[in-house]
Order: sequence, then structure tokens, then C-alpha cells
Amino acid sequence: MSRSVLVTGGNRGIGLAIARAFADAGDKVAITYRSGEPPAGFLAVKCDITDPEQVEQAYKEIEDRHGPVEVLVANAGVTKDQLLMRMSEDDFTSVIDTNLTGTFRVVKRANRGMLRAKKGRVVLISSVVGLLGSAGQANYAASKAALVGFARSLARELGSRNITFNVVAPGFVDTDMTKVLSDEQRQNIVAQVPLGRYARPEEIAAAVRFLASDDASYITGAVIPVDGGLGMGH
Ligand code: NDP
Repeated sequence: MSRSVLVTGGNRGIGLAIARAFADAGDKVAITYRSGEPPAGFLAVKCDITDPEQVEQAYKEIEDRHGPVEVLVANAGVTKDQLLMRMSEDDFTSVIDTNLTGTFRVVKRANRGMLRAKKGRVVLISSVVGLLGSAGQANYAASKAALVGFARSLARELGSRNITFNVVAPGFVDTDMTKVLSDEQRQNIVAQVPLGRYARPEEIAAAVRFLASDDASYITGAVIPVDGGLGMGH
């Protein structure tokens, strides 16, 4: 059965791998992008998730073309790393506005159609550092930890409506986001990962697709680590 799937930030990195995984399975996949040329093969809608009007417009376009969103993957996210001493008000609030409030905006809008359909799947992309913490990433880690409380509250609120909310917490993945790390930082990270390497974006996508599948029909409020063992114990 072909479902209407939306992946925010599906134009590159982990989001693109997730979009491809759903498209390969025959779903109708919409992705958001903010600028440049989006990848072919998807319904690409221009949308900055920090702008409620753009979120509304994007949903209207998707609903016209694919019908109401049945599977939402809230993947769009940013980092603005800085030690607390030097972290500005904007460094903090802009990361929260994208990673947490932006997720709230897209989830809230998707919920409308899911309530009507009496079913839905929502997967939020958090991070291993949300629970582990990370020096220089207090803003980012706080935003990613908050997604757990957000998802679990909604799992309770909307479980009776047959809508599931789950969180995937990736470890370090080879994307633009981690390209900024130096070789030394990379080696230090890899040394702490039991599997001894970074993840491929496709390995995150596999867990997301599972959570949106019939096989995961009784899973809600879960936090699934896909981190090579880095976050074990949390
Ligand atoms: P990238 O930096 O490669 O991509 C980020 C994506 O988010 C892009 O598609 C970007 O769109 C989109 N995005 C950012 N801000 C906004 C916004 N305001 N509105 C709409 N879209 C936005 O990151 P990754 O692919 O690595 O990360 C994807 C998710 O996975 C993020 O939530 C990240 O925090 C999380 N994650 C990543 C890890 C990693 O090691 N890479 C580890 C753990 C979690 P645009 O192209 O327009 O900029």
C-alpha cells in the first residue's frame, strides 16, 4: 500500500536516505528543502520549519498532490556548537526553534489528518547526545533530549487514536553535519563506539522505516538507538 510520507530535511544527509527508503518501498514521498535544487524523485516542497506559514503551505501542497500525511519523519535539524560561556541567546534559541519548536509545528499540522484517518506514524530524529550530553552542544543536546518528552507525551495523548510516536537516536553519521569535525575529533569519537565506525545514513533510515511499518504496530513512545553502541546504558 502506497502511503503519503513526509520527511522534513529530506533533501540531503540522513533525511535523503530516509526518503529513499520509503520511496524504494513504493510510498509517495514528499521532502522539504530550503534552497538550491532538491533531489529528483520526490515531491519537493520549499519549507523552512521555523516559519509556521511555510509549514502550512507545504502541507497544503502535499495534501493536494499525495493526500494527508500518514507517515511523518521530523528529521530537519541544525547545530550551533559553542561553549556555554560564549553561547549567545541566538545560538540557543535558534537551535531550539528548529529542532524542537520546528518539530512541534510539523507534528501538530500532521496530527490534523492523522486524527481524521484514525491512524498515523510519527518518527522524530533525536541524537545520542540528547541523553549522553556533549560538551559544546548544550543547545543541541537540550533540543534533542526534549524530543523524547515531546514524543512520549503525544504517545500517551494520542495512543487511543492509533497514532504512534517514536524517536530514533542516531550516533555519529557521515553527513554534512559531521564533516565539520576534525580528523582528531573523528578518531576520538570512533574510539568510543563499540562498533568502531560512523553510521551510514541508510542504517538510520532502516530503523525509521521499521517504526513506520506494520511490524512496529505495537511500538510507541520508544527511543531506538542507532549508534553503534555509543550511548549504551541510557
Ligand atoms: P545535515 O546537516 O546533512 O542536514 C540537515 C537537514 O535539515 C537539511 O535537509 C536541512 O535543509 C534541514 N534543515 C535544517 N534547518 C531547517 C529548517 N529551519 N527548515 C527546514 N529544514 C531544515 O544533517 P544530517 O542529515 O546529519 O541530520 C539530520 C538529522 O539527524 C538532524 O536532526 C540531526 O540533528 C540528526 N542527527 C545527525 C547526526 C549525525 O551524526 N549526522 C547524529 C544524530 C542526529 P537545508 O538543505 O535547507 O539546509
